[in-house]
Amino acid sequence: MQDETCQCDYCKLSRRVHDAIDSRDPDKLIEILTEVMNHLCDVEFDRDYDHCILDGSWPSAVEQLEEALKNAKKKRDSIVV
Ligand SMILES: [Zn+2]
Repeated sequence: MQDETCQCDYCKLSRRVHDAIDSRDPDKLIEILTEVMNHLCDVEFDRDYDHCILDGSWPSAVEQLEEALKNAKKKRDSIVV
């Protein structure tokens, strides 16, 4: 029988959060809350960085956007419809 439980990072973390909540164990709750807060910090940093690239305020934004556009066009052109 195939395991149909989603293995994406969000679902795996979500299951661990719910397990910690269900456990009512303060140490487990503190541990998972700390992990979630660290993850949130990483996600927010990545979002802010990507925003700076897209709005052109990051020093290498133009070069990164040009490279990304070149790669996007290659992908688009390789798609067979
Ligand atoms: Zn998932």
